[in-house]
Amino acid sequence: MIRDPAAQAKRLAAAARLVEDILIPAEAQMDAEDRMPVPARDAIRAMGLFGISLPEAYGGLGLTMEEEAELMLVLGRAAPGYRAVYALNSGGAAQILLRAGTEAQKAHWLPGLARGDRIACFCLSEPDAGSDAASLTTTARRDGDGWRIDGHKRWATNAPESGMLMVMARTGGEGARGISAFVIDPATPGVRIQPVQAKMGMRGAQVADIVFEECRVPADALIGAEGEGLKLALAGLDKVRLHLAALSAGLMARLIDEGRRHALARRQFGKPIAEQPAIGALFADSSAEALATRCMALELSRARDVGTLRPADAAAAKLFATEALGRVADRMLQVHGGEGYMQGSAVERLYRDARVLRILDGTSEIQRMVVARSVIGEGL
Ligand SMILES: Cc1cc2nc3c(=O)[nH]c(=O)nc-3n(C[C@H](O)[C@H](O)[C@H](O)COP(=O)(O)OP(=O)(O)OC[C@H]3O[C@@H](n4cnc5c(N)ncnc54)[C@H](O)[C@@H]3O)c2cc1C
Repeated sequence: MIRDPAAQAKRLAAAARLVEDILIPAEAQMDAEDRMPVPARDAIRAMGLFGISLPEAYGGLGLTMEEEAELMLVLGRAAPGYRAVYALNSGGAAQILLRAGTEAQKAHWLPGLARGDRIACFCLSEPDAGSDAASLTTTARRDGDGWRIDGHKRWATNAPESGMLMVMARTGGEGARGISAFVIDPATPGVRIQPVQAKMGMRGAQVADIVFEECRVPADALIGAEGEGLKLALAGLDKVRLHLAALSAGLMARLIDEGRRHALARRQFGKPIAEQPAIGALFADSSAEALATRCMALELSRARDVGTLRPADAAAAKLFATEALGRVADRMLQVHGGEGYMQGSAVERLYRDARVLRILDGTSEIQRMVVARSVIGEGL
């Protein structure tokens, strides 16, 4: 549902220029420093990408899912470390606020996220609660008028530079129904951001653990009703999964371009390696998977806009897209031969970046579980 085709066309053209002129040239620096270079951040902010799908009423771009997916097909060509900083401001944390926050809570937090003045951080995982998020043990206990939070959150993206934490904590009872959502300012006493070991890829979006010790927060830190937290978090997953599918298609297109450039330039046996049928097959398979991912992301995004998306289809799209991305990254590294294995080549960096997308926001095994349950439960 492209609301204003002319405005969207302009936006896509501007995004393409941003990617080619600013983001791709700064990728190697971002990977080396694990920090988004300032000019890239400024350009991203100027385009309004921190509020990519936040409502216009809070200063966001207010994009539909289809418009967002189209944009991610373009922006996905740049290293995913960029997107992990700006897009999380419209991601899981903001979606919980939009779904269940009071007007005062939304007005307090969302404009800063849309402008990129605050960076959102979604705190669900724990050392002993990864895929099995419902087993988390961070607690929120009533404390006077407010709450006291204690616990340990693991690998929270953007934690070191966060300006807002969306924390899932147990307010009572076992399992999913005992979990509530709290929005917390990271400057609150009792919040400790704890560095973790360097990660393999997606550098630029820093990850840290967060320890809460006797962290006291006011009553209005609770978002929605007690016991609704995990349900709210899961409700935002469709959007995240479609976003990642579109991102994967964009990254596949980039990898194919990197491979194509190398295959045309590199000569062996007296001609470009691109002329070898075995190399051509790597491109044919990769381009078919990129096309399928692109079509899937756009079609399901339209379905979400009109309210007909089945959650299992979003899981299937994330599964297919990120697994296909892994195959494409592997093939394009193969096209580069030894050069692709050397640190400093774009394909080596993107190969590392791509790998985490099969783990984040639900591993491939968890997506398969969702799809299998849906298929066996509902039939095809
Ligand atoms: C770079 C990075 C950034 C992250 N950012 C965030 C963040 O911002 N916020 C946040 O809350 N978390 C974040 N995470 C954590 C991420 O969500 C988890 O890593 C993910 O949910 C998987 O949990 P786990 O790593 O504990 O793996 P585990 O759950 O221990 O799984 C290990 C393996 O077992 C498989 N497995 C587990 N259960 C089943 C099952 N029932 N059936 C079949 N296979 C199963 C998994 O698929 C996986 O292959 C981040 C992780 C990384 C690496």
